[in-house]
Amino acid sequence: MLSKNIKRLVEYGISSGLTPECERLYTTNLLLELFCEDSYEDTSIEGESLELEDILKELLDEACERGIIEDSIVYRDLFDTKVMNCLVPRPAQIQETFAKKYEVSPKEATDYYYKLSQDSDYIRRYRVKKDRKWTVDSPYGVIDITINLSKPEKDPKAIAAAKNAKTSSYPKCQLCMENEGYAGRVNHPARENHRIIPITVNDSAWGFQYSPYVYYNEHCIVFNGQHTPMKIEKATFMKLFDFVKLFPHYFLGSNADLPIVGGSILSHDHFQGGNYTFAMAKAPMEETFTIKDFEDVEVGIVHWPLSVLRLRGKDEQRLIELGAHILDKWRSYTDEEAFIFAETDGEPHNTITPIARKVEDTFELDLALRNNITTEEHPLGLYHPHAQWHNIKKENIGLIEVMGLAVLPARLKEEMEILAEYIVEGKDITSNEKIEKHAEWTKTFLPKYESITSENVMDMIQKEVGIVFTHVLEDAGVYKCTEEGREAFKRFISVL
Ligand SMILES: [Zn+2]
Repeated sequence: MLSKNIKRLVEYGISSGLTPECERLYTTNLLLELFCEDSYEDTSIEGESLELEDILKELLDEACERGIIEDSIVYRDLFDTKVMNCLVPRPAQIQETFAKKYEVSPKEATDYYYKLSQDSDYIRRYRVKKDRKWTVDSPYGVIDITINLSKPEKDPKAIAAAKNAKTSSYPKCQLCMENEGYAGRVNHPARENHRIIPITVNDSAWGFQYSPYVYYNEHCIVFNGQHTPMKIEKATFMKLFDFVKLFPHYFLGSNADLPIVGGSILSHDHFQGGNYTFAMAKAPMEETFTIKDFEDVEVGIVHWPLSVLRLRGKDEQRLIELGAHILDKWRSYTDEEAFIFAETDGEPHNTITPIARKVEDTFELDLALRNNITTEEHPLGLYHPHAQWHNIKKENIGLIEVMGLAVLPARLKEEMEILAEYIVEGKDITSNEKIEKHAEWTKTFLPKYESITSENVMDMIQKEVGIVFTHVLEDAGVYKCTEEGREAFKRFISVL
């Protein structure tokens, strides 16, 4: 069986274009070594499936049987990455091919690299496919929702092993360059099949790669070659536009640099982008303004629940200058009437989530104004999802959410299914501890619907989750979409 499955995997490599035909024997031999096997029997694989998930499953079962690995998801993921690396070209070859394709067009290069990142199983297509995705109409446009199910849950064996594992500071984090080719450990993912494209951003060495969990089309990560903390400053805007100039079909944005309103990794300077147009990018400007000394830049308030200023112009240098000016003003801006405080007790609160893109021949820089102040009533943050929505979303509103894609916790998949069953059968929601937290919320929307059946109940719940997410975004807006909120927004614009 081993020979047959190795042959299937090599065939997968060749048919996907990952492995050249002339490396058939070489690749076969590398794989034999991994399985501690010194002989090979050439058998027919006619009619056999070349689905990667099936082939890897059989190979991993074999590795468990042979006692090469323990039978648990974490060890299987570490081992199948090593297996896949036998098929993937070395980094220099990939960089060379990428550069050649870039000569034809940036899109040709990213198309090649995105397909490679999936064929190599660095992006596990069959797991990403499990994610739940839907869209919901909102007063601000079509909002995207995803429940991410592709991150594997840790198993007890791995948790126990991780507890006893030596603490290691190599690589320093999952965004460091040193991950390329790293074998991984129980508490760090294997990246042997990972290949990074080196790029120059703001005259320094950066890396370009895709997110292994791809929340949206061609979800990429652009990261500093050095393990250095996130910081929003003028240079951030320069970096964003350096990348957008290299890959004009991609947008690029940054998480804010303060806790509560920032992303999950603040310790390593990085951005996220991709080939996708979010609702925020499509949202029109409500009103435009002229800023003194920047008469050549179009500035407007975006019709969006978060407080976003959009700068537009043909010369990206002018957007960088104005962006830096606005950031500088915002950092130190206080408007007590609007409950915006630049700092309390020396702790700074104001920051920006910036997004850069090119639309035809015009550059755009969206600046979402953020503030991370906490109050007695809102201990997790005033401009953060309020407690009444925590049954759906409690986590930070980072860059991806700001743009209009809700990334919801995996627990919701099961909870929504149980809730649907309870609603259709008219059972008491508070009687089940898994969905008890949704009882109050369900009461608020059920009366809106006339006949609820097992056919339409999930559509209803999905729609209501989308409505909650829209409210979550409204909570994150420092200026509300009300007359009073817009007046306060304009007070800030008037000091620019
Ligand atoms: Zn790092």
